[in-house]
Amino acid sequence: MVLEKLSEGLKSTLQKIAKAMFVDEKLINELVKDIQRSLLQADVNVKLVFELTQRIKDRIIKEETPGALTKKEHLINIVYEELTKFLGGDKSELKLGDKTPNKIMLVGLFGSGKTTTSGKLAKFFMKRGKRVALLGLDVHRPAAMDQLAQVGKQINVPVFILKGEKDPIKIYKSFEPELKKFDVVIIDTAGRDALSQDLIEELKNVHQLAQPDESLLVISADIGQAAQTQAKAFHEAGAITGVIVTKMDGTAKGGGALSACAVTSAPIKFIGVGEKVDDFEQFNPKGFVGRLLGMGDLEALLEKAKEAITEEEAKDIEKKLLKGEFNLIDLYNQMEAMSKMGPLGKVLEMIPGLGQLSMPKEMLQVQEGKLKKWKHAMNSMTKAELEDPEIIDAQRIERIGKGSGVSTSDIRDMIKQYKQSKKMVKMLKGESPEKLMKKISRQAGPKLKF
Ligand code: GDP
Ligand code: MG
Repeated sequence: MVLEKLSEGLKSTLQKIAKAMFVDEKLINELVKDIQRSLLQADVNVKLVFELTQRIKDRIIKEETPGALTKKEHLINIVYEELTKFLGGDKSELKLGDKTPNKIMLVGLFGSGKTTTSGKLAKFFMKRGKRVALLGLDVHRPAAMDQLAQVGKQINVPVFILKGEKDPIKIYKSFEPELKKFDVVIIDTAGRDALSQDLIEELKNVHQLAQPDESLLVISADIGQAAQTQAKAFHEAGAITGVIVTKMDGTAKGGGALSACAVTSAPIKFIGVGEKVDDFEQFNPKGFVGRLLGMGDLEALLEKAKEAITEEEAKDIEKKLLKGEFNLIDLYNQMEAMSKMGPLGKVLEMIPGLGQLSMPKEMLQVQEGKLKKWKHAMNSMTKAELEDPEIIDAQRIERIGKGSGVSTSDIRDMIKQYKQSKKMVKMLKGESPEKLMKKISRQAGPKLKF
């Protein structure tokens, strides 16, 4: 995961609290020091670190522990809440107007990741059923147009470029009628080595003409806290509505970059977590901090599920989760959706409490072969059995096995997985992420017992 070191530091701090006998001044001081050390190592600005830990300390001392929580739980909750606020608080959605094409302009210095991110963002919208086009206005780098064309080809998105033309305004105007055919147009612009007057002029001119719904500063995480100066300068030039922090995967300084952007009041909308087109996430401070602290991220999981299956299906599963209903068909659909979500490790990371709960990881190991067998077995089951697998006894298993050609042990395995998932679903029923976190911490094994 990103910010692995920071995550490890924070997790071990929480475990130290979990293991401590009492919540006393000594423990609080240790907690504060630990958090400071972890954040400073992630290149978070010293002043910001001290302000944050002071707030944490003040709250621990001043606030009464709510009745439903233990003192330790309360302490951990304060750390979670303050870190979340520190990274911007609520998730900042893109603000796209009703009029299409919606336009999103990406701006930033050389090498920050604009062109790569153009492709990622295009894919993001394609997954949501939008017609997307890329417009190349980087007239400064000779190979820029070819690079964008390559990105577009890879994801099968039309790319509008005009090689040899040195005036971005002319390029924009020449394609303006074409662009009207799309829902979303992503505009890749030219960078510079530093924020120069020349760059600001160019961006302002393009901005004025294109009137983008969002213009997002693309900034590389490896510059750490220096991101603040950059974000502030672009923000003050009136040039941006938000930030995308790239290369979160390749640096230990990402904490510095994220917190620096958060204080400039230019909200972080996305993060880039790798070179590939799918290595891209909407930035949600709550979920992000939850994952850093090892608490899982139900919201992000549901969001990924939405991409893998249609919105309607996702709503259905969500509804069923909320109602606590869950049958074999749901399990099958969920497994199928998960298998489309990508690397299992990434998915597992997002499941609340996994690893800490007494739930075997194999439960979620999705293999295509297994899914096929399930499908065969399910075809031999009656409607009543599918809707209420609890009624499936040894005799029925025998019958299903014969009918489908699937071994009885595979069928038993499927039913076992169903029962385990149902238990989890019951536990998650209708919980907000915060409540869920508390519940998990209470149910967790010795490692996370507060
Ligand atoms: P531009 O000059 O702003 O258009 O930057 P590019 O899109 O050309 O990217 C510069 C380099 O950064 C390329 O080698 C990209 O592959 C790399 N890059 C961009 N985003 C990410 C990211 O999220 N993670 C990693 N590891 N590399 C990235
Ligand atoms: Mg570029």
